[in-house]
Amino acid sequence: MNSVLTIAGSDSSGGAGIQADIKTIHRMGLHALSAVTAVTAQNSIGVTAAYSVPTGIIREQVEGVVKDASPRAVKIGMLKSTDSVRLMVELIQRLGLKNVVLDPVIKASTGELLLDPQALDVLRDELLPRVHAVTPNLPEASALTGRPVRSGRDAEEAARALKALGPDAVVTGGHLEGRCVDVICDGDGTHSYSGSRLITAFTHGSGCVFSTALATALGMGFGFRRAVIRARSITRKALMNGYQWGAGPGVVNPLGTRSQP
Ligand code: PLP
Repeated sequence: MNSVLTIAGSDSSGGAGIQADIKTIHRMGLHALSAVTAVTAQNSIGVTAAYSVPTGIIREQVEGVVKDASPRAVKIGMLKSTDSVRLMVELIQRLGLKNVVLDPVIKASTGELLLDPQALDVLRDELLPRVHAVTPNLPEASALTGRPVRSGRDAEEAARALKALGPDAVVTGGHLEGRCVDVICDGDGTHSYSGSRLITAFTHGSGCVFSTALATALGMGFGFRRAVIRARSITRKALMNGYQWGAGPGVVNPLGTRSQP
């Protein structure tokens, strides 16, 4: 069975992070390998703590599975520390990891920091140029480019600026007003994918599902643009099947139809 590796943080609330990634990979029919980079304590209301996993332990998790059978693709999510970011740079090069998609997780939507502030420059300058694709939302695109990214036009400029650093870029439009527009920039230039906006409060984990679905589709052999279309459709279904489990906003459900009691 072909596999996809997710290197990401654990979300105790089960909606985002490595939990969302594993569900997404399995839903797409591949085997999910996982390496935990950070442990968060969170519920539907917010994140109360985020701890880095020591880099030696992250390294062992990644090396162990990759030595056994090379994954078709790799999704990198929450990294928390500068050392973890540097470790990714080393592992991508030394292990020759393919189809690496970076979701540049910086903050939870409830506002808590998931990346140490001093790690941002290293992520942009050293890790970004070595991945195949990067999938920031608007606030993440803004942090990475140092410019406000609020409109479709800003998103297009940000996607171009990120592509200039190396990877194919998708600036996801979940935070845009009006229609949901994802703007990409790849070797063939920029392109926008537009769709109607789903009105839902079950959004926690949507960025994780999108980036993992993109990596998995690349690993299945789709070209970048077709993989983006596939990832959009999987994310849309996960939003449509989302549900609430606690007092705060609900979670996406990448596993398909929900059976509500
Ligand atoms: N927790 C973890 C471990 C994550 O990786 C992420 C996002 O990638 C989040 C929380 C935040 O998810 P959201 O922005 O959907 O609240």
